[in-house]
Parts: sequence; structure tokens; C-alpha cells
Amino acid sequence: MIVGFIGLGIMGRPMAKNLIGAGYKLVVYDKFAKFDDLVALGAEDASSNRDVALRSDLVITMLPNSPHVKEAILGTGGVIEGIKSGAIVVDMSSIAPEVSQEVAIALKAKGVSFLDAPVSGGEPKAIDGTLAIMAGGDKKTFDTVKPVLEKMGSSVTLVGDTGSGNVAKLANQIIVALNIAAVSEAFVLAVKAGVDPVKVFDAIKGGLAGSTVMNAKVPMILDGNFKPGFRIELHIKDLQNALDTAHSLGVPVPLTASVMEILQALKSGGMAANDHSAIVRYYEKLTKTEVRK
Ligand code: NAD
Repeated sequence: MIVGFIGLGIMGRPMAKNLIGAGYKLVVYDKFAKFDDLVALGAEDASSNRDVALRSDLVITMLPNSPHVKEAILGTGGVIEGIKSGAIVVDMSSIAPEVSQEVAIALKAKGVSFLDAPVSGGEPKAIDGTLAIMAGGDKKTFDTVKPVLEKMGSSVTLVGDTGSGNVAKLANQIIVALNIAAVSEAFVLAVKAGVDPVKVFDAIKGGLAGSTVMNAKVPMILDGNFKPGFRIELHIKDLQNALDTAHSLGVPVPLTASVMEILQALKSGGMAANDHSAIVRYYEKLTKTEVRK
């Protein structure tokens, strides 16, 4: 099986490397980033998204948001112009569920199966090949590509029909954003009360408040390290998709809306490219304090 890989950014690049390491023959392309390192590892370079599709049985995309996925797959020079009937497209980007459904319908008309399969875990887990992968689509397609997905993730789950993977991802992103905000609020309070934040972390991480988010983000906050990771601008994108999807279903999401405004304030303050752990800086600015070692 020849695997095409489109989108070689923070996440896509290490994911593609893991597929090469697992012995898959890869054809790679990115519209803006260079990918000589992947070619040096044995991948073939393509000249466009269409070219990737012409040369692949399975095309994986890992792009920023819905418009990029629509352009790369359905646009001029896109995957849909080159893809063979019977091939499979798996979009691993985090995008709006309704766009996954739109792409699936367009590809189906060409005899091509589609899965949405966004991921959670960030760059470290992309490098380790231990991402959580949440897929939407039909079971036959899922079973065909599962061995490939298992080279990039340690948990690979079929959630439901097309779009369900991205619904699960929106739920994931709401929980992550609110968790970072809760941690930030609580640790700023502790520092203002004159308590050592390192000791607070040690005291509570094993209790009910402990979380994967806390374990990943508090050490970054304590070091004042806001290098992404997961950029604030990408989390704004995910929460916008969550707000749009929730409102179209008549679901109020008041806490998501509040954290969205914190992220917007950070973006206005020039921090869009910081890691989302920089949510703490919003609280630090309000209270003129810093949560550091
Ligand atoms: P990124 O911006 O680093 O990489 C995206 C890549 O897509 C870039 O290299 C860009 O040049 C390329 N690209 C854009 N438009 C293109 C097009 N039309 N054709 C071909 N290439 C194109 O983003 P990332 O951090 O790798 O994130 C990718 C996706 O994964 C996003 O949806 C993000 O929300 C999701 N995600 C990211 C993380 C993380 O921690 N970074 C974690 C989980 C999920």
C-alpha cells in the first residue's frame, strides 16, 4: 500500500516519519513547508496535492482547519483531481464535522472512501506514535486503515459515522481548554496567597483534580515556557468550531464561550503563536503575579 501524506507541520511531520519507520512507502507534500528531511528518510516527493493522490492508495491529510482541507482535497490541483476509484482518504486534521461530511460526499461520487480521524496528544505523542485517534466513517474503511493508524497512535477508536471523529475532538478541545483555564485560575490564587506553586502541584496532582492536562501544562507554566506545542490560534480555531457546532444544534456552551474570550484577549496581546498553557498569562496580568518555580 502506497501512503500519500499531505501537511508536514508540527504534527504531520513526525506522524509521517513514524509511517516511514514502520516500513510504509510514502509520497509526501506540503504547500508551504520544506520536506527534504522526509525525502532523505526514503519518502518520495510530490509536486502537488493532486500528484500525491495520483501516486497513492491511501491519502492522509494533516492540515490546520476546514478551509485548508477543502482546498487541499476538493480545490484546484487537489486530491480529488488525482485520486483513483477504490482509494481511501483519511483526514486527521481537527476541523468542523460538517466539512468532513461535505468532503466525504464529494469523494464518494468518485468511488473514494473517507474517514475523519483527528488526534489528541500533541507533538510529543506524535513523535512517540502514541496519539489518541478518534475516527468517523464506515467500519470497513476503518478496519482497512486501522493498521496504518496504529503506527501513529496507541489508541484508535471508531466513534461513529462520518464527522463523529471531529465531534469527539471538539469535546476533547472543550475539556482541555477549560482544564487549562481552571488550573491557571487555581494556581494564580495559590501564588497570590503566598503558597509555593511547586508544592501545590505536588500536593494535588495525585488527587481528584489531577489530570493529563495538569501534568503536561503545569511544568511548562512553572518554567515560563510557552513555546508551542499547541498554539493559541489553533485552540481558537477549535473553540470556534465547537461554538458553531453547538449553536447549530441549540446547545449552550457558556464555559467554552468564556475561555474563548480569554484566548481572544491573548491573541490581541500578541500571543497567538504561544502554547495554550499561556492562558495562565491572562490571569497573571490581571493579578500582577507569576506562577513560576
Ligand atoms: P501546522 O500549521 O504546524 O501544520 C499544517 C501544515 O499544513 C503546514 O506545514 C502547512 O504548510 C500545510 N498546509 C496548509 N495548507 C495546505 C494545503 N492547501 N496543501 C498542503 N499543505 C498545506 O499545524 P499542526 O500543529 O501540525 O496541526 C495540524 C492539525 O492537527 C490541526 O488541525 C491541529 O488543530 C491538529 N492538532 C494539533 C496538535 C498540536 O499539538 N500541534 C495536537 C492535536 C491536533
